[in-house]
Amino acid sequence: MVKKTVGYVELEWTCPQCGTRNPGTGKICTSCSRAQPERVEFDQAAEEKLIEDREEIARAEAGPDVHCAFCGARNPAGAERCTQCGADLTSAEARESGRVMGAHRVGPAAPVTCPQCGAQNPATATRCAQCNASLPRASAAPKPLTQTPSTAGVKGGRKLGLLAILGIGAAALAAIAVCVIVVLALIPSREVVGQVQSVQWERSIEIEALTDVRHEDWRDEIPGEGRIQSCTQKHRSTQDSPASNATEVCGTPYTVDTGTGVGKVVQDCEYHVYDDWCTYAVQEWRRADTATASGNDYDPRWPGLRLGGGQREGDRAETYKVLFQTEDKTYTYTTSSLDQFRECQIGSRWKLKISALGGVKSIEPAG
Ligand SMILES: [Zn+2]
Ligand SMILES: [Zn+2]
Ligand SMILES: [Zn+2]
Repeated sequence: MVKKTVGYVELEWTCPQCGTRNPGTGKICTSCSRAQPERVEFDQAAEEKLIEDREEIARAEAGPDVHCAFCGARNPAGAERCTQCGADLTSAEARESGRVMGAHRVGPAAPVTCPQCGAQNPATATRCAQCNASLPRASAAPKPLTQTPSTAGVKGGRKLGLLAILGIGAAALAAIAVCVIVVLALIPSREVVGQVQSVQWERSIEIEALTDVRHEDWRDEIPGEGRIQSCTQKHRSTQDSPASNATEVCGTPYTVDTGTGVGKVVQDCEYHVYDDWCTYAVQEWRRADTATASGNDYDPRWPGLRLGGGQREGDRAETYKVLFQTEDKTYTYTTSSLDQFRECQIGSRWKLKISALGGVKSIEPAG
């Protein structure tokens, strides 16, 4: 985040003795002439107009005012002697500064009615133009419409709530699944005797072909062989310094107490760097087809392959199935072992271990 200065605005302070509002740069109360006390806080004006006067801005930039250790009078930063009592200011204490006061009040505030004569005065006025009575604080200008952090927070909260519910639901399902697996594992498997009815083997070879595959990435991350199809600008990173391909994004301006009676209006900004996000194609080996051979004998073979241009042989797979007939039903046993498959000659008898789910877990010759 970079702090950008929008400008400077006059603050106010309220006289603790007579309650009169005074301009921030004023050091003496306009009603009772009392000097501004050390601890009085500055407030934002109802309507903050940017100061144009260069000297006033320079004073605010010079640093917080100091209070004379002897008479308490407020003196500008860097002053050597107190303007009121002439005392040495080297041991004078600086006013507090840097406090964030609130959002910059840009919009016009409603006029203030004089409690004495009823005349309408601009919100920025501290005294009535007609009777010189001191005026109450005007209500602050409405906040700009773009600033809605509270609703964003609520929405975020709801989303989080929903995610939490989904998370709990998923965890519950996982727990139930684990229980089911444990219960099934505890059920002992049964043993039955079966006779081999028939056998079946299947062998397959995948045929792979060079295929155009689409990917997405930043332009400078695309491999050399990639053929770019289209690109759009996308937010890639955020940084504190401006750049030719970056957009400035700033938050709502706010007023900071400088300790001089003048507020500094600042804005936190960052730079979103945009870059080309592209879809591109590269040639990759992908499965295009599968050649399969099958039979019901004990001499399995691999399927014959006729590879075309841009094709190659991929993964191989083999499965062997044996169909057993027991007293009441038939079971299918699947294995990848050719040796075991060949032992299962038609008519031979086997002990079958049946799992809780009804599948054949393992077999061994019966007697
Ligand atoms: Zn006063
Ligand atoms: Zn003094
Ligand atoms: Zn008045």
